[in-house]
Amino acid sequence: MSTPVGAGRYAPSPSGDLHLGNLRTAVLAWALARGSSRAFHLRIEDLDRVREGAEQRQLEDLAALGLDWDGEVVRQSERGAAHRAALDALTAQGLVYECYCTRREILEAPSAPHAPPGAYPGTCRDLAPAAREAGRERMRALRREPALRLRAGTDAWSVQDLWAGQVHGTVDDLVLRRGDGVVAYNLAVVVDDAAAGVDQVVRADDLLSSAPRQAYLAHLLGLPAPSYAHVPLAVNARGDRLAKRDGAVTLRDRFDRGESTAQVMGRIGDSLGIPGCGTAADVLTRWDPASLVREPWVVELPD
Ligand code: GLU
Repeated sequence: MSTPVGAGRYAPSPSGDLHLGNLRTAVLAWALARGSSRAFHLRIEDLDRVREGAEQRQLEDLAALGLDWDGEVVRQSERGAAHRAALDALTAQGLVYECYCTRREILEAPSAPHAPPGAYPGTCRDLAPAAREAGRERMRALRREPALRLRAGTDAWSVQDLWAGQVHGTVDDLVLRRGDGVVAYNLAVVVDDAAAGVDQVVRADDLLSSAPRQAYLAHLLGLPAPSYAHVPLAVNARGDRLAKRDGAVTLRDRFDRGESTAQVMGRIGDSLGIPGCGTAADVLTRWDPASLVREPWVVELPD
């Protein structure tokens, strides 16, 4: 086997069983990595929303579908030292400040002039020392730590997405460490992908708008930005994001309904316009990424 060039990955949050949309994204992440001679890694994003036993079940389901991965599975919760080192590096560059805002205050604050909707308005960016002390006092009373935010030097950044093309999206003073002391997802993902040599990020397209922020963070940390491929979400018949309450949407649910792995792979293949798939390897050999329909996948299941 030739030495892999770069790596792809799948990075589920262990909050429950993977549904068909998650499984499809995982299969595509694997197929894109393997189809380009990359390594493929799994990372469990367990900084919050952990459900007992979910990680093991997710790994079993991915293996049942025929996905294989290289090296040990990485758990984000075990990467604290690397996350702290990145935070320290940004702090050393003068790019980190404490934020004392509550979620509600941010929602209610008038947005800064020219700032895109939803961007942090910069309330705590340039506080005088006395106002900072008052903020810290308030945090102590709330028994919370101040969040740490990035002092962003731009309000937009560009990334390259396999399907969306060049995406020029909002960058704001994003949170780097949350008020509960946990490193923020946007920082963890950048640090962990780079440490694993990941240069191809495949995930659901609800995270497309996060990609410019993450690529900008990588730039500040002196890390190469990966290429991106954001896969359309799976939705139910009403067009809402697929969820457990939509019925038998996980692999085990499908097994309980008498379906085989091959039939579930067949559903995933059908959604990609390649009928007759029975294994992940079929997707790898038969799927043309350029043919991906960029609309959400409407999952229609028999009762
Ligand atoms: N853990 C995230 C999720 O399950 C994915 C994050 C990523 O792939 O960057 O939605």
